[in-house]
Amino acid sequence: MHTTPPPNPTPNPTQITRIAPSPTGALHLGNARTFLINWALARQNNWSIILRIEDLDTPRVKPGVIDQTIDTLTWLGIDWDTGPIIQSTDLPNHHAAMESLASNKLVYPCTLTRSQIEAAASAPNEGDHETRFDPSLRPTQIPSSFNDAGTNWRLVVQPNTIEFTDTFLGLQSFDPSTTTGDFVVWTQRSCPSYQLAVVVDDHHQSITHIVRGDDLIDSATRQITLQRALGYTTPQYTHLPLVRGQDGRRLAKRHGDTRIDHYRSSGTTQEHIIGLMAFWCGLTPQRSKMSPADFLGAFDLDTLPKDDIIFTPEDDQWLTS
Ligand code: GLU
Repeated sequence: MHTTPPPNPTPNPTQITRIAPSPTGALHLGNARTFLINWALARQNNWSIILRIEDLDTPRVKPGVIDQTIDTLTWLGIDWDTGPIIQSTDLPNHHAAMESLASNKLVYPCTLTRSQIEAAASAPNEGDHETRFDPSLRPTQIPSSFNDAGTNWRLVVQPNTIEFTDTFLGLQSFDPSTTTGDFVVWTQRSCPSYQLAVVVDDHHQSITHIVRGDDLIDSATRQITLQRALGYTTPQYTHLPLVRGQDGRRLAKRHGDTRIDHYRSSGTTQEHIIGLMAFWCGLTPQRSKMSPADFLGAFDLDTLPKDDIIFTPEDDQWLTS
């Protein structure tokens, strides 16, 4: 294990990543692990880091949550070079992207309800969590301008297998026309959907490396579809296994209070949290205290366990004892 912090060379402005929390609530152990790995990869590889607060991702951002998210990241030892950039302050770029898509007749307004879409969909396959939008529901007349920002708009998704090589998961291949079909790119809340917002922001912020949870792996092909429609380059993706509860479900409130702030206010140290992350990342044979600098020195994507992490009572005990 390293005892001195590794050097922190000047970030390379041509290699840029983003740490992109959604301010939906306090960060829990699962988000924290993803962000810590993203940070370590960036610092090891000399990528510049943008902190981007994804406040478009959620209908209502509770006051104070953005500051709380920033404070928690800082307490964990994560730092960044640019930002915080608050996503909702950049809407002209998203409007311009919609106009570009509309001029190519690739988007259309859609007022269909979920039940109308479900009625037209064939029975979902096991594991599907999103209803496929059947192409028969697409209007025959597609407008050539983005003329109503107060309604939902969908992207025309033609059959096309999208392939990309994920740094961690290897070759991925999906056809979004068979999974989600025409997906929403603009919402009736007069703002871009998550899919469009991320693609436009990544492009305008010159993001070259995206590191995030593998629950977003099938979003990646929707995002690549959009990148191609807008003439953008595709960043390098690294999708990481998630932290789950013992029931196999994604870490959430049902598994108890796993917020970093909860542990922090009950006296858990930063080194206990980082130590647990290090154990989960296969860096130590058992849970032991670790500093962010030592985590950064030791982290190795090549030896990161491929399976999801299961949060156990022993983990909780380590943090609370
Ligand atoms: N804001 C998303 C999250 O907190 C991440 C989106 C992304 O990385 O594309 O899960």
